[in-house]
Amino acid sequence: MHQLPADIVTIDTLHLGRSGTIACYLIRGSVPILVDPGPAVCLPALTAALATVGLTLADIGAVLLTHIHLDHAGAIGSLLLANPQLVVYVHQRGAPHLIDPSKLLRSATRIYGDAMATLWGDFLAVPAAQMIQLAGGELLTIGDQQFAVIDAPGHAIHHLMYVRQSDRVVFVGDTAGIRMPGYTYVRPATPPPDIDLEAWDATLATLRTHQPAALCLTHFGAVFDVENHLAAVQRNNWAWAHLIRGWIDAGVADADQIALLRAAATAEMGEEATPDGIAAYQKGASVEMSWQGLTRYWQRKIAPPA
Ligand SMILES: [Zn+2]
Repeated sequence: MHQLPADIVTIDTLHLGRSGTIACYLIRGSVPILVDPGPAVCLPALTAALATVGLTLADIGAVLLTHIHLDHAGAIGSLLLANPQLVVYVHQRGAPHLIDPSKLLRSATRIYGDAMATLWGDFLAVPAAQMIQLAGGELLTIGDQQFAVIDAPGHAIHHLMYVRQSDRVVFVGDTAGIRMPGYTYVRPATPPPDIDLEAWDATLATLRTHQPAALCLTHFGAVFDVENHLAAVQRNNWAWAHLIRGWIDAGVADADQIALLRAAATAEMGEEATPDGIAAYQKGASVEMSWQGLTRYWQRKIAPPA
């Protein structure tokens, strides 16, 4: 496969007015389906993109959520206000945080502070009755579409992937890292709080057994050189983790670790490390946040919570 089938539309949610940052996917089956609608601030762009293919929010029958991070699922409560018939598919570990988003919003506020509203917009609660909770292993039938559901811990403990059965196009969320349009470099996406690299490796192994024909990344777009890409995800996740572990063990100060990681990230990009390239990857997943997530991963190994 070299391009997505015509019935899968990559929607650019134009986050903060910038193209190529957060992708939502529209699957134009007998029941229109959205995969990861994005944050609420992007609803106008999502609505406009649907209009270009003759659809409105009210036409959408189902939303598949890969996970509940704000950049993927923030709009879901607002979507339900516009379309109360919508059925939301979500990991059973994520569902409680959609029913009561207060904990999710508290931890996001610790990261984003005053910028929360500007970055993401509203995150409204989702009634339990609107959701179908998944654990992975299910085979979903939505209209004329079928999807195998993969439990995908690693980036988040409540992450799922969806394999379309007709052509093995896989909606991977952030499990296949960050690769911006027009680039080949694969950057780790390792934000706090639940990075688990061993679980991530196992998730990638499971994904390979489904023999993906294409990977649909949220940040950003479809990838067709699947084997190379997945190898790079695994290699680069561990490369960053081992760098950070070395700095922790050597007592390097946090600010210096972040500066070193930023330099390492730029070096890894090779000739793609142009000013545009560096900026594109930084908006997909900031080095600082990925440093935080990997640091937390090691802290839990060094001193496991009692
Ligand atoms: Zn993301």
